[in-house]
Amino acid sequence: MIESFALRSGSSGNCIYVGKDGRGIIVDAGINGKNFAAALSEHGTSPEQIDGIVITHEHIDHISGLGVILRRHKIPLYISEDTLAGALPRIGAFDPDLIVPIRAGVPFEIGEFSLTGVPVPHDAADPMAYKIDAGQTAVSVCTDIGVLDRSVLDALSGSRLVYLEANYDEFMLANGPYPQVLKTRIRGRYGHLSNEACAEALIEFVRRGTTEIVLAHLSLDNNLPQIALRTVREFLALIGAREADDYRLSAAQRYVCSPCCRI
Ligand SMILES: [Zn+2]
Ligand SMILES: [Zn+2]
Repeated sequence: MIESFALRSGSSGNCIYVGKDGRGIIVDAGINGKNFAAALSEHGTSPEQIDGIVITHEHIDHISGLGVILRRHKIPLYISEDTLAGALPRIGAFDPDLIVPIRAGVPFEIGEFSLTGVPVPHDAADPMAYKIDAGQTAVSVCTDIGVLDRSVLDALSGSRLVYLEANYDEFMLANGPYPQVLKTRIRGRYGHLSNEACAEALIEFVRRGTTEIVLAHLSLDNNLPQIALRTVREFLALIGAREADDYRLSAAQRYVCSPCCRI
């Protein structure tokens, strides 16, 4: 059985745990060292049980705690050359022996898991989504993506559990406080995924076998969990998918650890 939960999710910080048989991996380290250990302990695990960290990209909400976590817990860091170069100025010194180089599209192993980094469009050096395969079942983590192209969908499909970005509500973004240049960046190909685009993609994921959906990386200013959840429910109803019977849906929490999903 795979256990997975978001330690934090949103523009203020991102960190997701995926584990099996008491060992786990971490996707992104946008959480401080103290909260990292505390959040893991909420679900009965600890930093000592983490076999590796992968990073989607070098934006600060994904790496703010990385330096501290590496120094304190000495967990191997599986990272591409370009993402590492982008992250280094912000994470301070750590043991270089912890670095395990990876490349998009080339599968690699961490403990029981086989992972593949999938290139995604976003304004970072080498942004990736991850498919985390545990034999019978898989988990995908896909946030910070301007457009979810078919190539990404194909690479991630077949995952029972999907963390998918639902960054903004189009109406809230259009009428919100951000300057026009930032609104254009968020909406653009290298920005973030709207609730509607997320919901459209989830129709395909559910058609291809996804049953557990966690909406992730919600904007603090341009979204509300209830709007994101309602949008996805409305879209999935269009294909006759029934919540509870065909899929389970939640939104990952921003400032606290989310419930554990078991598949
Ligand atoms: Zn982000
Ligand atoms: Zn980003």
